[in-house]
Amino acid sequence: MKKTIRFGTLFLAIMLILQTISPSIVGAADSSIDRAPLQALIAQAERFDGRDYTNATWRTLTLALNDAKAVLTNQGATQAEVDRAYGALQTAATMLVPIASFGNPFADVGRNDWFYGAALYANANALMQGTTATTFQPLGTLSRATVVTVLYRIEGEPPVVFEAIFDDVPADQWYSDAVIWAAKLGIVTGVGDDRFHPSGPITREDLATILRRYAAFKNYDVTVPSSLSLGSFADYAQVNSWASEAVRWAVYYELIRGSGGRLNPRGTATRAEYATILQRLIDNFEFDRQPATPQPEQHYIAWQFITYLEPNFMAPKQESYPAQTVNVLQRREDGWGQITTASGDRWVYLRADMRYIESTVYLYDHPNGSRGDRIEPQVVTILAQESAWYQISTWLGPKWIYLGLGPQPGGGSRIALTFDDGPSGYTSQLLDALYARNVPVTFFVLGQQVAAYPSVAQRIVQEGHELANHSYRHPDLSRMSAAGIRDELTHCRNIIYQITGRYPTLLRPPYGSHNATVQSVAREFGYPLILWSVDTRDWESRNVNAIMGHFVAPNGTVRIREGDIILMHDIYGTTIDAAINAIDLLLANGFEFVTVTELLAERHGGITPGKVYNR
Ligand code: ZN
Repeated sequence: MKKTIRFGTLFLAIMLILQTISPSIVGAADSSIDRAPLQALIAQAERFDGRDYTNATWRTLTLALNDAKAVLTNQGATQAEVDRAYGALQTAATMLVPIASFGNPFADVGRNDWFYGAALYANANALMQGTTATTFQPLGTLSRATVVTVLYRIEGEPPVVFEAIFDDVPADQWYSDAVIWAAKLGIVTGVGDDRFHPSGPITREDLATILRRYAAFKNYDVTVPSSLSLGSFADYAQVNSWASEAVRWAVYYELIRGSGGRLNPRGTATRAEYATILQRLIDNFEFDRQPATPQPEQHYIAWQFITYLEPNFMAPKQESYPAQTVNVLQRREDGWGQITTASGDRWVYLRADMRYIESTVYLYDHPNGSRGDRIEPQVVTILAQESAWYQISTWLGPKWIYLGLGPQPGGGSRIALTFDDGPSGYTSQLLDALYARNVPVTFFVLGQQVAAYPSVAQRIVQEGHELANHSYRHPDLSRMSAAGIRDELTHCRNIIYQITGRYPTLLRPPYGSHNATVQSVAREFGYPLILWSVDTRDWESRNVNAIMGHFVAPNGTVRIREGDIILMHDIYGTTIDAAINAIDLLLANGFEFVTVTELLAERHGGITPGKVYNR
């Protein structure tokens, strides 16, 4: 069975949790400010667990999340501030580095261990290796030689001319270069009697002392406010006077946080403690450095391109521009960049070897060859190109897709089947039939129905159908003020986004009823108005034979023409039965089902917001 290949399943899984958000709180406070996407993103971010991500990226997310929450609850926040908080939080979430991505070769390191992140971070970044291939020995004692060897490794193991500084550090030991390097730099000293005692355990105050000297060598800040007192720790008096400045420094920079209100300065440090302290040291002093102010970059756009309001999955602006060099305002590691255009700042996908496919497209075995599965919108890697044909890498191997305008080879007469007023209790039965036939359709949904059937709405998107705006409550928009229309469209758009992670890009006004005000507001949202060329009047007859009469004449002639947009309602059982009959009839007569966006983009060379389309 053919089916849509889903690369966005993980994202959709994350979005599943958003279905619990009540539509009644969407757009609270100032209704002209759209806070719902920010609220949804905050709810998503709050489900993340800090144990699963590296310290530095988690801290960045936490800061962005706190900022976002402050903006969300600030009744005086402007739309620009809300949008900025959204962008910052989304970027921070995108940049999160999962600990799991490091892999875990150690049987003695588990996700619920306090040292989980630090041990895997240290191993992945070659700071500390396991004691064997499968053990880290997190609670094992840390030797003085190991402490120094780790620092030496971080510094790239610079060449060392051996000197017999310590009686117990001969030239041929695994730690010899490290100890001599550190001793010459003053990072370590001996234990007296010209001995280093390499196999000896290290105390926590020893470790603080060595790390503070290392920090000074690295030109990290080693100053501590004189007001900082260790008096809050019950055992602060046990800190040796020679170590007190180093312990104060380690506490100030939170390298050592104590346990149970105690510092335990003379206790021996474990390998897990060292991994934790090292990670905090690097986080504090390497990641917190202010990045240089980014300079405007430039990028050459080789041909017409589609721009987006926001990176990834967001509502596209189908704008084309001649080949030109554009200023890049910001560039993300995932390949998206924000550029300046004549129409304002827009997002595009900047990597030349990749392309963002903005609609569901078919895969071909070869140009002009047989058509196979479909892929949903995603970023793909381009392997080869022949005019409008692109060969891309997919999970099924290299496949061709067609990105030009006009019908694709092998396709029949293209038509769009549309279903209004759902989702409902009947929609799943329709989806099963569509899935079995690999037929994509377009659902013009009501916001209140999406709220009532969130999992059905998610399935619509996951199975490659188009999901579009039909208002929240189904009022006659032509009898409403611009503000009232905006409110209806916003509420429907937001609930769709919260539940499916996609913004709708089309509007069908209820009853098809529209006027200049409806068109003007639709233009603000970037929506074309989609009406229909075939009305099955299924809501009126609720009779399978009567509905089928709109598809086929009594003499057997098919009444559907290429380019038709067919109106049905997935809220009646009779409609579902008739739709399945009609689909089988039309497939047998060589018709190809496409979404409304695909149909109109091909027939009209693009879709214009605010304009009315019947076919
Ligand atoms: Zn309707």
